[in-house]
This record gives sequence, structure tokens and C-alpha cells, in this order.
Amino acid sequence: MAEEISAEAKKETFDRSPRLQNWVVCKRCGCRLKRHIEYLKAGEFEVGHVQRVLVSHPGYYHLYTNQTETLTPIFITAKCQRCGFERKITDPALTLEYLQSVKERKEAVGLFV
Ligand SMILES: [Zn+2]
Repeated sequence: MAEEISAEAKKETFDRSPRLQNWVVCKRCGCRLKRHIEYLKAGEFEVGHVQRVLVSHPGYYHLYTNQTETLTPIFITAKCQRCGFERKITDPALTLEYLQSVKERKEAVGLFV
């Protein structure tokens, strides 16, 4: 799965997502490392375990309907070149499901070109 993501990232599928343009900043020395998208392209990440989360949606007949959705976090392993500090990072945009939705939107747009 990780290989598919980095292959897709190299095709620039995820480049247009502003949420993946965030910089990773070193917690220790404060220097800028790389953008989230660059870690995806370089394959410097790992795919976590699927999580089930309960999401509340405003309902029509009921006030809220609860649905379980799956969420697969992606962890970037960011290592600072200057001080060597290493940490794992994840983000609401760094999930398999989010990347999938970016990819699908691109394909959907392609139909109308
Ligand atoms: Zn550092």
C-alpha cells in the first residue's frame, strides 16, 4: 500500500491538495525540513493500522445519526538533517482515505475535460 501511495504521489496526483503542502518543522532546532507531499513522494512514511471512528452526522429524522467510518493514518518519519532529531508525524490530511478522495476527485474532473 505504501508503494502505491508514493507511486501516485510521484505522478503528482496529490500536488493540488493544499493540505499536503504543510512544512514539517523540527521540534528541537526549529529548522524547516520538507513538505508533507515530499515525504509521500520519497516514500518516507508508513501506513498505520485501520481505525474505526464514530462520526456524527446531522440527521433528518433523528437529530444525529452515528456512523462508523474507517480511518487509516499515515505516519511520516521526519528526521532533521541539522540536529538529528527524529519524530513521527501524522495529520488529518495524512490518511489513506483523504488521499483516496483527492485521487478520485482528479479522475472525476478528468471526465469533463
Ligand atoms: Zn533539528
